[in-house]
Amino acid sequence: MLSNSLLEADREHLVHPLSSFRGHEREGVRVMASAKGVWLTDREGHELLDGFAGLWCVNVGYGHESIVEAAAEQMRRLPYATGYFDLGSEPAIKLAEALAERAPGDLDHVYFTLGGSDAVDSTIRFIRYYNHARGTPERDQFISLEQGFHGSSTAGAGLTALKGFHTGFGVPFEWQHKIPSHYLYRNPVGSDPQTVIAASVAALTAKVEEIGKDRVAAFYAEPIQGSGGVLVPPLGWVKAMAERCRELGILFVADEVITGFGRTGPLFACEEEGVVPDFMTVAKGLTAGYAPLGAVFMADHVYQTIADGAGDAAIGHGYTYSGHPVSTAVGLEVLKLYEGGLLDNGRRAGKRLMAGLESLGEHPLVGDVRGRGMLAAIELVTDKGAKTPLPAAAEAGKRVFDRAYKNGLIVRAFAQGVIGFAPPLCCSDEEIDEIVARTRRVLDETLADADVRAAMKDA
Ligand code: PLP
Repeated sequence: MLSNSLLEADREHLVHPLSSFRGHEREGVRVMASAKGVWLTDREGHELLDGFAGLWCVNVGYGHESIVEAAAEQMRRLPYATGYFDLGSEPAIKLAEALAERAPGDLDHVYFTLGGSDAVDSTIRFIRYYNHARGTPERDQFISLEQGFHGSSTAGAGLTALKGFHTGFGVPFEWQHKIPSHYLYRNPVGSDPQTVIAASVAALTAKVEEIGKDRVAAFYAEPIQGSGGVLVPPLGWVKAMAERCRELGILFVADEVITGFGRTGPLFACEEEGVVPDFMTVAKGLTAGYAPLGAVFMADHVYQTIADGAGDAAIGHGYTYSGHPVSTAVGLEVLKLYEGGLLDNGRRAGKRLMAGLESLGEHPLVGDVRGRGMLAAIELVTDKGAKTPLPAAAEAGKRVFDRAYKNGLIVRAFAQGVIGFAPPLCCSDEEIDEIVARTRRVLDETLADADVRAAMKDA
C-alpha cells in the first residue's frame, strides 16, 4: 500500500501540470512505480496497458537497458558541457548531424531545447530575428490553427488555441491570429477532402490579406492536431498549406512534437507529403521520454539569412541545457532503436490499431474513428446523425479516463468526449488487440450510465 505520507506530501507540495489545484487537494494522484515494455505498474500494484505512451512520448516502450547504459555512461564521462563560449560536447554534435541527415530537404541546422514548448518559443524568436536580419521587422504577425496546440510557454500558449491555456494568462497576444481547423468530422464545409483543403487554403489567404500582406511572418501547424483531439487532415492538406505559405511569402512551421519519430509511420509526418517546412519542431519521441530534449530544425535559407544579418554578433537566444550531453546521448541511442526495427513495427501495429478501432465504429456511442499510424482517436456522441456530444461533456473525459484506468488501460480522454490513442511503437498484436478490447469495455460501461441512456432516448 502506498504510504499516506507520500500522498499527503504530494497534495501539500507538488503542483502538477495541467491540474485543478482544488481537485488535486481533494483527490490526490495515482503514483506510478515501474514500467516494462508497454505496461505500467502503479504503487498499489495495478498493471496498466499504456495506450498513450506516457504523454505521446515513450515511443520505444519502457525498460530499454541500452538507453539506461547510454545515459549512465555519458553521466560518468561528462554529465554537462555548455554550448556557450564556443564549447560543445560529442553527443550533441553527433545527434545534430544524425538528425540533419534524416530531416526533410534542407532542414540542416538543429537547435536543441529541453522540450516542445521551448522549441516552439525558440522558433518565434528565430523568426523575429530572421525578419530583423533581412530588414523586414514589420513582419511580426503569426497565424496558427483553431484546436492547435503549440505548448505552454507564454508566447507558445498564444499560438495554442485551447481556451484553458489562455483564460487568466493574458494570451493570445494581439500579434497572434487563428484560422479554422480542418476538423473533418465537424467542418462546416463538409468532409470532402478537396473541399476541406481548399477551405483551409482560402482561410489562410484571407487572414494574411486581412492582417496585411507584408505583416505576416509565419503560419504554424501540426501535421496532425494532437491535443485538440487528434484531428487528422486529408492527405495533401499539409502540402497545400506549405505551398500557399510560399506563395504568400510567409514561413511555414511544422510542429512535429507529437507526430515526429514514427508516430504516424515515417520518421517525420511531413515526409508523407514530401513537404519541407522552413522550421520543424520536435521533442517527445526524440528521446522517447527517457530524458528531456526538444529540437528546432531550421532550413538552410533561414539559417543563412540570420547568419548574414547578424555577422559576428551573437544571437541572444540560449539555454543552460541546450544540447545537454546526457539527453543527446539518450537521443542517439533512441534513434538506433527506431532504425533497428521500431519504425517498421510501429507501421505494422498502427494498421492493426486502426482496424481495431474501426471495428468499434459500430458501437452506438462511436461517432467518428480517425487516425494515422499509431496516433488515433474515437469521438463519442449520443446521436450519430446529429453528432451530439456526450452529456456533461466537460466531465465526460474524466469519467472515461477513470473507467479506462479501472479496466487497466491508460488513454487520453479529452473533455469533449474524444478518446485519444498513442501507444508505444513496440506494441505486439496481442497488446493492440487488448487496447481495443479494453476500450470496448469502457464504451459499454459508459453506455450504461443513466445520463447517457437518457440522452440517447431523447435523440
Ligand atoms: N507542440 C505540440 C504539437 C505538442 O503536442 C506539445 C506538447 O504536447 C508541445 C508543443 C509542447 O511540448 P512540451 O510539453 O514538451 O513542452
